[in-house]
Amino acid sequence: MAARILDGRAMAARWREWVKAQVEAFRARTGQVPGLATVLIGDHPASLTYVQAKQSACAAVGIRTFRYDLPADVERETVLELLGTLARNPEVHGILIQLPLPSHLDEEEILSAIPLEKDVDGFHPLNIGRLGLKGRDPYFIPCTPLGILAMLQEARIPIAGRRAVILGRSRIVGLPMALLLLRLDATVTICHSRTPDLGALTRQADLLIAAAGRPGLIRGEMVRPGAVVIDVGINRVEDPQVPRGYRLVGDVVFEEVSAVAAALTPVPGGVGPMTVAMLLVNTLKAAQRQVEGSASPWLEPIEG
Ligand code: NDP
Repeated sequence: MAARILDGRAMAARWREWVKAQVEAFRARTGQVPGLATVLIGDHPASLTYVQAKQSACAAVGIRTFRYDLPADVERETVLELLGTLARNPEVHGILIQLPLPSHLDEEEILSAIPLEKDVDGFHPLNIGRLGLKGRDPYFIPCTPLGILAMLQEARIPIAGRRAVILGRSRIVGLPMALLLLRLDATVTICHSRTPDLGALTRQADLLIAAAGRPGLIRGEMVRPGAVVIDVGINRVEDPQVPRGYRLVGDVVFEEVSAVAAALTPVPGGVGPMTVAMLLVNTLKAAQRQVEGSASPWLEPIEG
């Protein structure tokens, strides 16, 4: 049986509409608009593309953006000073620092300089820590795991009591995804580059989340029939047939896994658009919290 394909583009479009309406209602109530500051250090082409995509997604829903592009050799003090200014600016409700940072900057120190209530990426060590602690709520959940949760909810895929296997343990995807699923009562296994016999673990998964950044890693025989597979990977593979010389693929061999899984996210058009949509949601909530004192819970139920 062919897998149900979870259409991240369509889901993200619905979320954008929802945020747009909420931004308009917020403006009518408070006379203010949510504001997001992006900080890009260096000129890495992929990072530049991501920042531009986030900026235009904000503009399309009425979120104001403030853009700061700093040279790759910027001094640590300059970055910290900028973050201090943004932290005090009442028109800036969310601050995003595009990762990765140049190696002379201490990621921990820079991310920790964002006030928790403006940490719309959810990468502040305290936000990550709270995500993992029972009875504590983070201010924000990182956008990719939150986007995946929104997709699972909209597709009515249960989480509690299911066996989740996650490939990857990064700050951006793997680790917060694992903590979030644990919070939602899944039984979670985290795999990484030193995990032997990956297939033996992935075959146990009801919910398999591939975020290793390795094209072709997940083959059909590694997936339990009927599993739900979320392909987070975004990898460039050379393709002389297309004008730009490469195409984007995930970590999953789509043709093989779509014949085995019950549901699967495509690349492109799966988790990627939802990640950007959740940045809009987090920025809206940051503004609601800072201006009105409260925000709605992590996710609103939306019509599928
Ligand atoms: P990182 O490189 O930071 O982390 C990759 C993780 O995968 C590491 O924990 C690594 O293990 C693990 N890993 C690497 N090789 C293997 C392997 N053969 N088997 C099992 N685990 C492995 O990447 P990110 O987490 O930032 O991103 C992962 C992928 O997701 C990338 O392709 C990225 O482009 C994509 N991405 C997509 C987003 C979206 O919106 N769709 C958003 C963010 C990222 P170890 O810790 O041992 O090194």
